Amino acid sequence: MLGAMQDFELRVPRVIEHAEREYGSREIISRWADGSETVTDWAGIARDSRKLAQALERRGIRKGDRVATLAMNHSRHLVAWHGTIGMGGIVHTINPRLFEDQLAYIGNHAEDRVLIYDRMFQPIVDKLKPQWKTIEHYIVFDGDGPDSFEAVIGAEDGNYTWVEGDEREPCMLCYTSGTTGNPKGVLYTHRSSMIHAMAELQPAVFDLSTQSVVLPVVPMFHAVGWGLPFAAPMAGVKLVMSAVNDGKTLCDLMNRERVTHTAGVPTVWFAMFQHMDATGEAPQHLKVVTIGGSAAPRAMIERIMKMGARVNHAWGMTETSPIGTMGAPTHDWDELSFEQKVEKTVFQGRAPFGVELRTVDEDGTILPRDGISSGRLQIRGPWIIKQYFQDANGPCLTADGWFDTGDVAVLHPDGIMQITDRAKDVIKSGGEWISSVELENAAVGCPGVAEAAAIGIYHPKWDERPLLLVVRKPGSDVTAMQVQQHLATQVAKWWLPDEIRFVESLPHTATGKLLKTALREQYRDFRFAAAG
Ligand code: ADP
Repeated sequence: MLGAMQDFELRVPRVIEHAEREYGSREIISRWADGSETVTDWAGIARDSRKLAQALERRGIRKGDRVATLAMNHSRHLVAWHGTIGMGGIVHTINPRLFEDQLAYIGNHAEDRVLIYDRMFQPIVDKLKPQWKTIEHYIVFDGDGPDSFEAVIGAEDGNYTWVEGDEREPCMLCYTSGTTGNPKGVLYTHRSSMIHAMAELQPAVFDLSTQSVVLPVVPMFHAVGWGLPFAAPMAGVKLVMSAVNDGKTLCDLMNRERVTHTAGVPTVWFAMFQHMDATGEAPQHLKVVTIGGSAAPRAMIERIMKMGARVNHAWGMTETSPIGTMGAPTHDWDELSFEQKVEKTVFQGRAPFGVELRTVDEDGTILPRDGISSGRLQIRGPWIIKQYFQDANGPCLTADGWFDTGDVAVLHPDGIMQITDRAKDVIKSGGEWISSVELENAAVGCPGVAEAAAIGIYHPKWDERPLLLVVRKPGSDVTAMQVQQHLATQVAKWWLPDEIRFVESLPHTATGKLLKTALREQYRDFRFAAAG
């Protein structure tokens, strides 16, 4: 057939070129760990990325080699991504909050050849250097001397042409924090990253344009920084990046730079609310607040919506690049009451074009989207994992090509997805499932409760019953009775915990989520008094 369209490989360096050409002077502000600030722009990021690409090649790094970063969010970290990917390398973001043996494992498993890190992580590097077998070059983002990032790129002229290749070549590697066993690597391709980033720009997802001022609180080492380091230059946004994430720093930056979009896990907002309560200050210009990584509690959603921002409740995982669903306003949004809007936002939203969702029961039978049937959530699409990095077990998919997320969900008739729990965290009581997540979120809505965790405890009659562990807010003397009474207004009676215990703190994973495996282990032999 005659006639055709032009073609180019969907490779990441095209994005930084686009940002340089179209939005070259749009700023990127970095607030560093020592409190200092620097300003660059997309043209500056592109220029420095070319220099880094040259510097890496000078050190013998070649296409397909892994360049690791151990760093918070700042412009040089962005340069490390775009420079490495631009010379055909694979960026491996390391989560500094992992346990030491995990850090040692993933550096070796990834066969990293270079590590670029923040000075604040020097103690980790000193400790692990003898264990990391493949790392030949150490570069310090905010260091002085010959191994500093400035010196390394300062020696280059930036006269460089990006390495070309197939769009299905890999460009990023990120390990899941793994609550059991060794972390597993997820290897993203240029193509998957580009399609995912394009999907993120949509109004129904991040809603990004060059008018946006974005402060991604989510660290770049957490699930590809939720794709923002690629989506931001695509849209030509102004970026505000902070290496420290306390409430005051973030609130001040948001107000001074008139931040319109931010994204982070719920914990970020607990800290922000504390700052707001203590000072009476609040971010003034936010339009879209994306919350994901774990369920956003209702009270949090209400408060942010009252501040005048849209809450984008996102669900995803490292294996899904990470955006799986996003809670954009529905078609009838303007007709809904505040209560109804909150009601919808408590759920995790809809799949954007590009991903498909289904729920299945224990036998793999596909369940109806009826808003009631709860089953294992499965997902497929061009930015969803097929096989873990260097995993000899082969593809991690069902026989018909879907990835089982390990989450339990309900799909509603209007397409909205509701995560009810992680499959391994649900509390199985008398053949029915109690959602630990819903119990926890109901509990944190109780005044005086800072954080809560619900786990299933063996029960001779019901198989399992809920134990609720509660951390009080500083200065609060909330009682178990008060928490029970609050819960009774929120959940079914048979969901109410058999016992509530107060604890000083709860264990968390490296990405700030409750570490349920540790709690289950700790309370393995616990028995409810009444159950004998
Ligand atoms: P991990 O924390 O296991 O390293 P991820 O950061 O990829 O890995 O976490 C993915 C998991 O986080 C999901 O499978 C889901 O259980 C949970 N999650 C993410 N977003 C949400 C949300 N909005 N509501 C409830 N759970 C969520």
